[in-house]
Amino acid sequence: MTMPGTAAIPDRARVVVIGGGIIGTSVAYHLAHLGIADVLLLERDRLTSGTTWHAAGLMATFGSTSQTSTELRMYTRDLYSRLEAETGLATGLKQTGLIELAIEPGRLEEYRRVAAFNRLCGVEVHEISPREVTELFPLARVDDVLAGFYIPADGRVNPVDVTMSLARGARMHGARIIEGVPVTGFLTCRGAVTGVRTPQGDIEAEYVVNCAGMWARQLGELAGVNIPLQAAEHYYLLTEPIDGVDSNWPVLEDPANYGYYREEGAGLMLGLFEPVCAPWQVAGIPADFSFGELPPDWDRMAPYLERAMSRVPVSARAGIKKFFCGPESFTPDLLPIVGEAPELRNYFVAAGMNSIGILTGGGIGRVIAQWIADGRPDVDMTAMNIDRLHRYQANPEYRATRTVESLGQVYETHYPGRSMRTARGAMVSPVHHRLAAQRAYFRDVSGWEGADWYAPEGSEPKAGELSWGRPDWFGNWAAEHHAARTGVILMDMAFMAKFDVQGREAGRLLERISANQVDGEPGQITYTQWLNPGGTLEADLTVTKLAGDRFWVVASDTAHRHVETWMRRHIGDAHAFVTDVTSGYAQLNIQGPRSRELLASVTTADVSDQAFPFRAAAEIDIGFARVLCIRITYLGELGYELYIPAGQAVHVYDRLAGAGRAVDLRHAGLKALSSLRMEKGYRDYGHDIDNTDTVLEAGLGFAVALDKPGGFIGRDAVLAQKARGPLTRRLVQVLVTDPEPLMFHAEVICRNAVPAGYIRSASYGFTLGGAVGLAMIDADEPINQAYLDSGEWTVQIGTAVYPAVTSLRPMYDPQNKRIRM
Ligand SMILES: Cc1cc2nc3c(=O)[nH]c(=O)nc-3n(C[C@H](O)[C@H](O)[C@H](O)COP(=O)(O)OP(=O)(O)OC[C@H]3O[C@@H](n4cnc5c(N)ncnc54)[C@H](O)[C@@H]3O)c2cc1C
Repeated sequence: MTMPGTAAIPDRARVVVIGGGIIGTSVAYHLAHLGIADVLLLERDRLTSGTTWHAAGLMATFGSTSQTSTELRMYTRDLYSRLEAETGLATGLKQTGLIELAIEPGRLEEYRRVAAFNRLCGVEVHEISPREVTELFPLARVDDVLAGFYIPADGRVNPVDVTMSLARGARMHGARIIEGVPVTGFLTCRGAVTGVRTPQGDIEAEYVVNCAGMWARQLGELAGVNIPLQAAEHYYLLTEPIDGVDSNWPVLEDPANYGYYREEGAGLMLGLFEPVCAPWQVAGIPADFSFGELPPDWDRMAPYLERAMSRVPVSARAGIKKFFCGPESFTPDLLPIVGEAPELRNYFVAAGMNSIGILTGGGIGRVIAQWIADGRPDVDMTAMNIDRLHRYQANPEYRATRTVESLGQVYETHYPGRSMRTARGAMVSPVHHRLAAQRAYFRDVSGWEGADWYAPEGSEPKAGELSWGRPDWFGNWAAEHHAARTGVILMDMAFMAKFDVQGREAGRLLERISANQVDGEPGQITYTQWLNPGGTLEADLTVTKLAGDRFWVVASDTAHRHVETWMRRHIGDAHAFVTDVTSGYAQLNIQGPRSRELLASVTTADVSDQAFPFRAAAEIDIGFARVLCIRITYLGELGYELYIPAGQAVHVYDRLAGAGRAVDLRHAGLKALSSLRMEKGYRDYGHDIDNTDTVLEAGLGFAVALDKPGGFIGRDAVLAQKARGPLTRRLVQVLVTDPEPLMFHAEVICRNAVPAGYIRSASYGFTLGGAVGLAMIDADEPINQAYLDSGEWTVQIGTAVYPAVTSLRPMYDPQNKRIRM
């Protein structure tokens, strides 16, 4: 390793990794191990001088219902356990176990669900009694404990040692690591990064990876890259030695009391995740902050500390050796920021670790390196991808406001349906106030205020306590669902990503990236996927041809920037121009068997089935407005989507609401959307299908135009998969036959009592009469309906197991009769 400030820097490298914390060294290690020559890591000061040096080093594989996150954790633990043998440098990994305490029924339910899912992923988890907790951690008070969840192979690691070991492993495989050299800027050319600037000179590079921890946002700004993370105070204390404390005890976590506990120096380390936290240095992290500590705010922390100490009462009596506060980066949704920047090709980011950078660092490094080597990630990155985040989220007031909520969320019970509570109202639909007057209950939808459900007249839209059971508003949701199936509903979808794509070659561009044929006759909408050359999904959306040189592309909120980037990056020199018109248009959907009647009553256009068939798109008049009307549905009924210039949205809404009185129009929210679309088996990218699924496995082969002239990106991969024969991995619809239980996500599904997969997303099928979801199933034999019908299917929900039925075709209206009424 080169000593700070003494190295001559090279003038080029294949990959420049910025930052020598756990993440940067892991990225360099994995790039080098993939045989990528000429990897250069630049560290501003010394390795570990940012956040890594003071991490508590907890290693937990338990706790997530994300397959990707669980795999990252498991890979990391495995890597750290074999690193010393490879590099000769110890990591300090001690697999003494980890116990999560559940003291409230809601958390017990959560941990049972998580445990089942984690076991499916290969984590060894045991539910243990309070007595067993004290046997493993004798100083813990357990009078109020309902259960512990014990993971014997988890434990702790020394963050500095593991970073040094990764650095040596990187160097042993040819990577260069230079300390004392800050990156101060970037070189770019035609939308791609081409190198970095340093005080010692420029370095050309094919790829740059920003692993600058809490500095990553400021550094990203120098290249126009949006990395909306924010540092926040993060605390632990160390006690003087305590009699009887044993270094072989497991780590103990008591989220309900904000604390974690482990042995340190014959005493205890007591760490805190307080529910309301404090952002640090919103204006920017000082460039010279190294091995830094923050002055602890005792007054703010005292109540939380008291609670945490009550779990291990001896900690309150022991002397305090050190009360430590250090900054860690948090992100708007508590998920890391990983991947290639939408603003700049070949500029990768791995930052915003939300307090789990050590225990996921190995996996994050592996993914980034593999992504660079292969051009796309081999795990589902939809939830972590940097392109899910929006530029406004880097706004200082937004960061300061949202971050207050983030750290505390780590230790909350993760009830389904919890919405972010801070930084609300950042984006609202043009008809927001009208929906509020209809008693909409709003939740955060990628930063938009989305109407989730509506309270009946005379009552307030109050959500009540979060729970795993039926919410107070279950009946309102059911009524909205039934109204869509039997009458007509109005749904605000302003948050959908909308793009106006124009130009002489816009059709050619979209035809090339779409698996379906989208450039046919004007006036038609087409449902399509965009595939990468490997045949897996990049996007799931609609393309409407408005005119020979004009298209309307609509995708879901979470895919907004991914879709935009995918289009822009494929334009090349074509005469095609993409304009994001999301905020310029309202989207009001009227859906249900009576939607035609409603529409006909507000427009002079002929909207009969003959004149305006399924998939038709045309401008129509409503009141004083001109509206793009598309006959399409995402919930399985006759229905129309109306795209209205924002300035006319209230006017059109009022016309619809007024005319709606004659047809019993009901407002419906996003809860109804999810239950309706799930009954129909409609997919939602980033929720039940993702970048690891092929279009055939996702059950979307019907939307692929294999023979269209000129082909499309991914066609060869689709053909190759077809040639390999029947599929042994497929997305199936799952219905629990008992009407009582609810499914949310990650419930394990079994065929003949053998795990076959898990529920990727779920809702309640009010028409089908039970919880319904979509699960990706793996088998040793072809999966077809006969295979599904010949098995006995069950779903594990908490500790109970329920019979289920499975289907490849939608269980609701498999013949699509209702949408073609
Ligand atoms: C009190 C506390 C306890 C924690 N406990 C745990 C735990 O138990 N388990 C766990 O998994 N995680 C824990 N964490 C979180 C963990 O420490 C972080 O997630 C992790 O260290 C982040 O690593 P990083 O590499 O992203 O950032 P950093 O460690 O901050 O590394 C970034 C590096 O980039 C360098 N850099 C910045 N700008 C430049 C530039 N312009 N040019 C070159 N170099 C630059 C910095 O000097 C720094 O070394 C804890 C955090 C805190 C604060």
